Amino acid sequence: MSEKIWLSSPHMGGNEQKYVQQAFDTNWVAPLGPHVNGFEADIREYLGGKVEVAAVSAGTAALHLALILTGVKAGDEVICQSLTFSASANPIVYLGATPVFVDSEPDTWNLCPEVLEEAIKDRIAKGKKPKAIIAVHLYGMPYKVEEVHAVAGKYDIPVIEDAAEALGSTYKGQHCGTFGRMGILSFNGNKIITTSGGGALVCPDEEVKKKAVFLATQARDHAPHYQHSHIGYNYRMSNICAGIGRGQMEVLNDRVAQRRAMHDFYVNLFKGAGNITVFNEPGDDYCCNHWLTAILTDSYDAREKIRLSLESGNIESRPVWKPMHLQPVFGEAPYYGGSVAEDIFNRGLCLPSGSNLTDEDRKRIREGLTGV
Ligand SMILES: *Cc1c(COP(=O)(O)O)cnc(C)c1O
Repeated sequence: MSEKIWLSSPHMGGNEQKYVQQAFDTNWVAPLGPHVNGFEADIREYLGGKVEVAAVSAGTAALHLALILTGVKAGDEVICQSLTFSASANPIVYLGATPVFVDSEPDTWNLCPEVLEEAIKDRIAKGKKPKAIIAVHLYGMPYKVEEVHAVAGKYDIPVIEDAAEALGSTYKGQHCGTFGRMGILSFNGNKIITTSGGGALVCPDEEVKKKAVFLATQARDHAPHYQHSHIGYNYRMSNICAGIGRGQMEVLNDRVAQRRAMHDFYVNLFKGAGNITVFNEPGDDYCCNHWLTAILTDSYDAREKIRLSLESGNIESRPVWKPMHLQPVFGEAPYYGGSVAEDIFNRGLCLPSGSNLTDEDRKRIREGLTGV
């Protein structure tokens, strides 16, 4: 059997081990150190230099901190896009708050601004104004930034931007992760760049970053002894992981170009196939990193046929995220909208999209996709 072709696998640039070696040579083998600071500065600069960045142990941890810093407490409600990975919603529950799920619109597959407003109005009518909105740039596709933020602004609800999949994507030239009150990034092994595991909280200013780092390092008060007036977390990024991150930041632009080239490959491949559409930007304002290329087939059966055909060639593909309001664990949570997200889930499939795929891999993928 030929080697497995993965959906998205780590792709080192070459200097990562050098930075990790530096960390060992200087004995900065700890959840702080020069690489952590350097990695934060690299991301800050990449995002345009107007935000502050706190490197943490995971994107999920960053989202947990963002919710705490937004003031979300037990019993509160937080609106969250339903069509997403569970990590977008889980931190709401960590805090004892309730997720309120909202449907997608078909252009970007992300938060539908009309349903969002309907949900906000209804929650307010029921006596509880949502404390925050978690908006996701799914598969790197920017959500309808202006429309979503207009609704959020009208009701004065902060937006937390889940840009875990969208590092390198832009809307009207501005980087995803920098539109919300706070943004989160992920450097998990399957993301566009990786630190093996890690994440970042994008903060509006130095003060918020300081609070985030304080909470992420066990919330120690200023005192010679260990004193605590807040519950803390052990969420800081390791200097070893940050060393990998520094190497990865050197090649991020290449990775975006390579993922976008994979997307072009699929656009060409499915040209003329009337029953399959490749998920694409709805207009020139949007620039997607195409972390994963997804296609929409015309039925659940058609999607499964393609998935199984690829699987028989040892090629990984994956149905689009199953919406949160259809997950057993969130069965009790309120949901607003229709069946846009559910329909995309039933008919959508993510295809191998790694920046390290070879011509040989593409040949195998093409073969796996012919005749379906
Ligand atoms: C990966 C991901 C996360 C979580 O990031 P981790 O670093 O894996 O904790 C959150 N939201 C979305 C949409 C993701 O894809």
